[in-house]
Amino acid sequence: MTLPARISPAAGQALDSYLEHVAEANDLTAADLTSLIRRSSGHPVRYLTLHPDPATMLAIAELTGTAPMQLAAMTLSSLAEHDGWQLEPFDPAERGAFATITNRGWLRSRGSQLCPRCLADDGVWKLLWRLHTATCCTEHGSYLIGRCPTCQRPFRDHHTTALRVAGTPTVCGNPTGTGRAARCPHDLSHIPTRPAPTGDIARQQAHDQAFRGLPTPVFGQAVTAGEYLASTRSLTVLLLHLAQQTDVGDPSVLPAWAADVASMPRQVWGKRPPEDVELRSAVLGEAHSVVTATDRHQAAERFAPWLELVPRTGESAIAWCTDRTRLTPSLLALLNAAQNPRRRLSHRLQHDKPLVVEARHIPQQIPEPIYQHHLGDILQLRIDTGRTFTSLCLARSLPGTTSWMQAATLIGLPTEVGDRIPALASAALLSSIDELLQRLHATAEDLPLIDYRHREAQVRQLATTTGWFTTWRQGRAGTRPQSVRYAISWLWEHHARGHPATNPADLVGPRQHATYRAFANSLTVTQQHALRGAVR
Ligand SMILES: [Zn+2]
Ligand SMILES: [Zn+2]
Repeated sequence: MTLPARISPAAGQALDSYLEHVAEANDLTAADLTSLIRRSSGHPVRYLTLHPDPATMLAIAELTGTAPMQLAAMTLSSLAEHDGWQLEPFDPAERGAFATITNRGWLRSRGSQLCPRCLADDGVWKLLWRLHTATCCTEHGSYLIGRCPTCQRPFRDHHTTALRVAGTPTVCGNPTGTGRAARCPHDLSHIPTRPAPTGDIARQQAHDQAFRGLPTPVFGQAVTAGEYLASTRSLTVLLLHLAQQTDVGDPSVLPAWAADVASMPRQVWGKRPPEDVELRSAVLGEAHSVVTATDRHQAAERFAPWLELVPRTGESAIAWCTDRTRLTPSLLALLNAAQNPRRRLSHRLQHDKPLVVEARHIPQQIPEPIYQHHLGDILQLRIDTGRTFTSLCLARSLPGTTSWMQAATLIGLPTEVGDRIPALASAALLSSIDELLQRLHATAEDLPLIDYRHREAQVRQLATTTGWFTTWRQGRAGTRPQSVRYAISWLWEHHARGHPATNPADLVGPRQHATYRAFANSLTVTQQHALRGAVR
């Protein structure tokens, strides 16, 4: 049997909303139409916008004259491939079937959000409003509304009927008591809305496009729409869990909403997102900005402050995250990139408390005994390289230093040293980043308060004259005037703690370097003392 008045579904309309319009066009109540469908299919009418059973869909197709394909597109299951919902085992004919899939992608079996202005325009309830990942109306540029201001419940919150008893009018109509007449009278088309920021709208546009099946790039790579949707939602779940760990992190580098989440009771975020639409929008926006970064490294940079919130217990960070969200291939790649030791060290040095107060107190190479005592056993590096690396770490921790090259410049080292050594060191690190940071702290505490830039200037000044050397070499038989370069090199190394690359006395070739070593090793304590004296 086909109903006499046939109407077409509106774009994006949810199946239950469509049926309410069909009932109205045919002068039927919602209850009349529901019982017609039930009699025709022989099944209870359940999960209309989620995943109705095939007999129900067939009955609706017959009654309305609308093609089954078109009807299916008005249910969330038609979108299932887009968000890893895996609805196959879900059997709508089973009572309580929904309980088996509640942890998949924030699905809900009843209730809806709402854009009052859209509803005022055409009385159509949109399918996407059912999704917790929907937070804005892209047409009106405003946040969706989650609850009725009068009855304080989600819209369309009726569990005993498949369709709204109120039908197509824009009153809330939620049951407010047991009586038939007890319905919430609030006019939904007049609920005031709040404008959403452009970033939230852009996120919503990407989301809605993905639900239409249009691929959205993840880390700059073309992936399926489903990978984008599942990655964004799973990362949102992870961010919510991480925001509740802020007692172990630095809240100043996190967005403001993290503090709101931190003060909320702990919950299984994978099952149920925050109800507040603006908060939900903000967290989804953060996840979206990580997932849509231009490449994996940019994404890892953006995710770095979050990774620091993972509690450092016996289990790995990835294991901790896996316990709390579903790691899609993209998210796994993100975590691996973010865990790169060099990236983590950079992040910690930049955001933790500075290790020293001023750059001038950092020598280009940490004195060898201090280095050996604190760090020699955890860095598999040549001692010289390790000492320079330690200096770079101290400089990298100074406020305003955002790169290793900048750290190198701060202590007068060539930028390529800043580029090369941290990469070498992170590969040679035998401890955790936390352990390394503790050792760096102890190193900084042991460092004498010397103005090394001043000492470097003293040695450079000395390198422009020779009179002092003529005097000094009288105390060392057989020393030639040309050996002044070795004396300067010795002072550069031992007085200024300077790096060989910046030595004002240019040592050329392996022979001069070998001669310098022999010179340095042959110096008596008295000769060393006299050399230092020449500086003053
Ligand atoms: Zn709207
Ligand atoms: Zn209400």
